[in-house]
Amino acid sequence: MAEETAKAQAAQPGGDTIFGKIIRKEIPVDLLHEDEQCVAFKDIAPQAPVHILVVPKKPIVRLSEAEDGDAALLGHLMIVAKKCAKNAGLTKGYRIVINDGPDGGQSVYHIHIHILGGRQLNWPPG
Ligand code: AMP
Repeated sequence: MAEETAKAQAAQPGGDTIFGKIIRKEIPVDLLHEDEQCVAFKDIAPQAPVHILVVPKKPIVRLSEAEDGDAALLGHLMIVAKKCAKNAGLTKGYRIVINDGPDGGQSVYHIHIHILGGRQLNWPPG
């Protein structure tokens, strides 16, 4: 089993996460974007030449637990993601991913969007 998959299957929903610490600036990261609703920063274990995470400040646990009232926030994250992709120079395209739950490979239970690019990405994903 791949290390990332094992990590995802062992991760538990609920409670504070590493992303909460990053949002509160308890763990320093280079922020690529910050506004009142979200932050964006480079993934610590990049799966592509460009691998950025967009994370809402609101700690929605996972996509499957998002509520109808989160629609505007989730839309905002997508717009920030496309701006981050442009700023990263991903003119040939990129992939947006949200992993949900154990089968989806989610390892941090604070919803986030992955932006992956800078190489040809394969389909289907593993
Ligand atoms: P997921 O597996 O979809 O929950 O994605 C979680 C992502 O967070 C993984 O790609 C990790 O590499 C990344 N990650 C975990 N800790 C950090 C950190 N301190 N800084 C940046 N990225 C992180």
